[in-house]
Amino acid sequence: MSKIQSIRGMKDVLPEETPLWQWLETVVRRMTHRYGYQEIRLPLLEPVALFERAVGESTDIVSKEMYNFLDKSGEHITLRPEGTSGCVRAVIEHNMCYQSTQRLWYQGPMFRYERPQKGRLRQFTQLGVETFGMPGADIDAELIYMVYDMFKALGVADHVRLEINSLGTPEERTAHRAELVAYFEAHKDELDEDSLRRLETNPLRILDSKNPEMQAMIEGAPKLLDHLQDESRAHFEQLCKLLDSAGISYTINPRLVRGLDYYTRTVFEWITEELGSQGTVCGGGRYDGLVEMFSSKGLPASGFAIGIERLLLLIQTVGADKHVAQVPDVVVTYEDSEHHIDALGLAHEIRQQHEQLRVYSDFAGGKLKRQHQRALKSNCRVIVTLNGDGGIGLWAPQAEQSVTVERHLLHDSLSKLLKA
Ligand code: ATP
Ligand code: MG
Repeated sequence: MSKIQSIRGMKDVLPEETPLWQWLETVVRRMTHRYGYQEIRLPLLEPVALFERAVGESTDIVSKEMYNFLDKSGEHITLRPEGTSGCVRAVIEHNMCYQSTQRLWYQGPMFRYERPQKGRLRQFTQLGVETFGMPGADIDAELIYMVYDMFKALGVADHVRLEINSLGTPEERTAHRAELVAYFEAHKDELDEDSLRRLETNPLRILDSKNPEMQAMIEGAPKLLDHLQDESRAHFEQLCKLLDSAGISYTINPRLVRGLDYYTRTVFEWITEELGSQGTVCGGGRYDGLVEMFSSKGLPASGFAIGIERLLLLIQTVGADKHVAQVPDVVVTYEDSEHHIDALGLAHEIRQQHEQLRVYSDFAGGKLKRQHQRALKSNCRVIVTLNGDGGIGLWAPQAEQSVTVERHLLHDSLSKLLKA
């Protein structure tokens, strides 16, 4: 029989990794809760048209990376490549725009047909945070504070840096675009194939090119920041001030444009040098025009997405995962194979009496010595043994203590040993 394997770029998360995921998810839940955000759960499948319109047809995501298919009734469906578009759809569909403000978060898989490599998968997980109804730089700053707090809680704050930029309003971008196109036309012989294509479709994106041969030429391109009118400029300055006052350091990167068409004014990325070229751990910004594309009522909005697999890679690379392990508190073993079922009852009883404990029964059996070897390997805190004579052995290997007690004294003795 031919071997069936997982689809390229789609990974299983194995039991040795899930404690790390669960820890991160706990931090995320705690942080979003503390900042007053509410969870929203969204479908994985959405109409293709949603992303064509929201993310933009000329973006890499829509032009190359989507998993599109026709369902049985001929609808054009896709596996969502990102979360913001679906969140906007839901907010409009459920009339949530009519509440004055919304602060939402979600976590789940996204799908993009990209070349799999370190930090780049075809199914990956994003934490998305979106806010609606707030036009100011204050909410942009709040989002950045929250990301920073998460990074601190996860032990990676010293391994990421923040870059910010302003993409202005569509009008400001149009003015800049004309100058940008003229500049790149004048340097047409230096543009690679990708950039020549973008010159026609989306010239701003050329600024994002990683081609080393084009870097010097791109540095000289006209900057959008120089085209901002008073209002956008004040918005950006306010953001800088709010970051300064919170002690969050950042660099202004006039070439930061992000890969999606819907951004206006604030954009930001958190980048690490620890993961090679897949270094963007979090990307976000303001998208004031997006709601209006789908509804008669416009609504300012702002958000970010964190790539969870990349963040976990970073956590592991810098060793911030050391304390995360799921060891049993208690392993129950038995001397006499006839007492196997009694040992099961004993484990059950311990769980009822000590609700906070993680209690593991050894069903693999064999000689007591073998059972103890396995228990020691698990790094458990206490090994409980049902002896042949009905007595109970309690052994705390790390505390180097052991006692044998009668059954009715088990729970008191166990509590004492766990405190030792
Ligand atoms: P990149 O420049 O790395 O392709 P992007 O600009 O396409 O990223 P966004 O669409 O802004 O990324 O998504 C937000 C975050 O999701 C990224 O910063 C990254 O951490 C993560 N991400 C994006 N694509 C992938 C992928 N294929 N595999 C794993 N994580 C990803
Ligand atoms: Mg990408």
